[in-house]
Amino acid sequence: MEHDGILVVISGFAGAGKGTIVKGLLKDYDNYALSVSMTTRQPRPGEVNGEAYFFVSREEFEKTIEEGGLIEHAQYVDNYYGTPKAYVEEKLKAGMDVILEIELQGALQIKKLYPEALLLFVTPPSAAILKQRLTDRGTETAEVIKRRMDRAAEESQMMDKYDHIIVNDKIEDCVAYTHSVIQSAHSAPARLKKLTDSLRRDLKEMSEQG
Ligand code: 5GP
Repeated sequence: MEHDGILVVISGFAGAGKGTIVKGLLKDYDNYALSVSMTTRQPRPGEVNGEAYFFVSREEFEKTIEEGGLIEHAQYVDNYYGTPKAYVEEKLKAGMDVILEIELQGALQIKKLYPEALLLFVTPPSAAILKQRLTDRGTETAEVIKRRMDRAAEESQMMDKYDHIIVNDKIEDCVAYTHSVIQSAHSAPARLKKLTDSLRRDLKEMSEQG
């Protein structure tokens, strides 16, 4: 059946495992396209430009905003992050479910612009496990970890704005579960307008023809 894809926003605390879930969705299923964000943050070791992010200067980022090239953008721990528009719109039209792995301010901007977007919030089962995962990553300084934990405390106040909370306990289960949540969202009437409109029109015509 022909339909537009769903814009799937995946947010969650830094260290909650969003990235792993997204990688699992892309690997295990066919219908997902991942939007690559633009950022002013420095690449971490191993991060490739154009894959992890488009790494740009502050001037370049601001120019892209002025040109209307980003759907949303936000500041997160001293850096800018934003979602390029063209890719997202092209893939949605092609019927793919487009994943945005973005933080909360951006997610709320997306919900305003695209009311049919599906907002998922990923959390570990507890705050203690979150701290442990952030520390185990070993890529950030103690100060950055502290700031990310502070940010998590703030973000936890807004979790209820999301459509679903995904508890990332065992990653294999979590990928399949997240996929099932996204798939079932396709059957919401608001996302099946083409089908429901044509059913209504055809049924009315048939009933008028007797
Ligand atoms: P990191 O620096 O750890 O890669 O990302 C920091 C935060 O920025 C994460 O919560 C990530 O989801 C978020 N983020 C990444 N890309 C975007 C984006 O395009 N827009 C917004 N609003 N947040 C983003």
